[in-house]
Amino acid sequence: MALSGIQIYKMLPQTNCKECGFPTCLAFAMKLAAKQVELGTCPYVSEESKKQLAESAAPPIRLITLKANGTELKVGNEVVMFRHEKTFYNKPGLFLRVKASDPDLAKKIAAANAYKVSYVGMEFTLDGFAIEADGDLTAAVKTVRSATRHPLILIANDAALLDSSLSLLAGEGTLIYAADSSNYEALAEVAKKHKAALVVKADSLDDLADLTQKVQTKGMEEIVLDLGGKNLGEWLMRSTQARRLALKNFKPLGYPTIFFAAQNGPAKEAVYAAQAIAKYAGFVVLDTFAPEMIYPLLVLRENIYTDPQKPIQVQPGVYEINSPKPESPVLVTTNFSITYFAVANEVEGSGLPAWLVVTDAEGMSVLTAWAAGKFDAERIAKAIKGFNVADKVSRKRIVLPGHVAVLSGEVEEELPGWEVRVGPREAVDLPAFMKQALN
Ligand code: SF4
Repeated sequence: MALSGIQIYKMLPQTNCKECGFPTCLAFAMKLAAKQVELGTCPYVSEESKKQLAESAAPPIRLITLKANGTELKVGNEVVMFRHEKTFYNKPGLFLRVKASDPDLAKKIAAANAYKVSYVGMEFTLDGFAIEADGDLTAAVKTVRSATRHPLILIANDAALLDSSLSLLAGEGTLIYAADSSNYEALAEVAKKHKAALVVKADSLDDLADLTQKVQTKGMEEIVLDLGGKNLGEWLMRSTQARRLALKNFKPLGYPTIFFAAQNGPAKEAVYAAQAIAKYAGFVVLDTFAPEMIYPLLVLRENIYTDPQKPIQVQPGVYEINSPKPESPVLVTTNFSITYFAVANEVEGSGLPAWLVVTDAEGMSVLTAWAAGKFDAERIAKAIKGFNVADKVSRKRIVLPGHVAVLSGEVEEELPGWEVRVGPREAVDLPAFMKQALN
C-alpha cells in the first residue's frame, strides 16, 4: 500500500534541517508520497524507517533492463501519468519484428541495424529486434546475433525451444514473448534459468492481474505486460487504466507494457506506434523497416521523453561554420538546441562561412529567452567579450536574430566599435540574408 504524506512524515526525523532541499520534513514527505523525490535525498532517515518506506519510495512501475553484448535498454521506473507532472524517464524501446523463416533475414537485420539518424546533435537507432519462431529459432538467433549487438525479444511459446535459443544468448538480458494461462509455469522456469524477462498476456486487465500474481509466485519479477485490446481505442483505454492502477501501487500491473504496432495491418502501423509511444508503452514492436516512418517516431519519442523542466541545450561558445575567415560575419543566437541546429544547419547548408556565437540563455529559444530576460544586450555583449570574438575577426560586425531587433540599440551601446545588424526572423532566411546584406 502506498503511504500518505502524513504517514511518511511520521517516519522522518522532523528536524526541518532543509538538507533535502525542502523547507520542512512535511514538504519532503509530500513530495515522496507523490514519488517526485528519492528517499535517499534525506540523509537522516533511520534504517527502520527506510525499510517501511521502501515500498512507498520504489517507482510503481518496475524497471526492466534488456541487454546484449554492448548495448542496454531500460524501460519502466515511471512515476507520473502526464509528463508535465515531473517527467517520463525511460524511453520505450523500438524493436523490429523479423521472422525466423525469412530467407533474407541476415540482409534485413543488417540494413535495420545500420540505420542511424541524427537529430539536434543526438544519434538515434532502433533498440533491438524481435524474432518470431515461425521457423528454426535457434538458427535465426545465431544469424541475428552475428549481425547486431542490440537486445532481442524471442517470440515463441515452446519452453524447450526457448531454452535452447536462450542458451545461445548467455549473459544477455532477453525478453520472452509470451506467457499465458496455459504455459506460464514452463515459461517462467525458462525465463528464470536464463535471467530473461517474460511478457505475460491475457484477454482482460483482470485476467492479466491474476496471471502476473501467479507468475510472481514462481519467483519471476522481471515481467512485461501485453495488455491485449482489439484496436487503437481499446489499447489506449487499457494502457491508461493500467498506468493509473500501477501509479496507485497496484503491484500486479506495476510493469512496463509491450505493444505490436502492426497488429491491425501495416496501413496504420505508424499511428498505432505513435500512440503507444505517447501513451505508456515500454516496448513498441514494428513490422516495417521504413526510415521515413521510423524517424518521426524516434523524434516523437525524444520529445515526449525529455524533461519538460530542462530544455535540451548546447554548450555556449563560438562555433565555426564552413571554416570562417576574419572577415566572416558573426551571428548570434541562444543555446536552445533546436534553435542552434536550425541556425547552424541553414548556414552550413548554404556553404557560407560564419562565426556562430551561442549565448547562455538557459536553454531557451530566442523569443522565450528575450521575454524571460535571458537574452538581452548585456548577455550578448558578455558572450562576445567572454569568448574573445574580437580576436577572431577583422570586421567587427554581429547579426542579431530578427525577433530581437529591439535590442540592436542597446547592443551597440554595450559593444562600442561593433556594427550591429538585424538578421531575419527565421533561420531558413539566413542564407539569402547573408548573400544579399552581408557582402
Ligand atoms: S533532510 Fe530529512 S530531516 Fe532534513 S528537512 Fe529534509 S526530510 Fe527533514
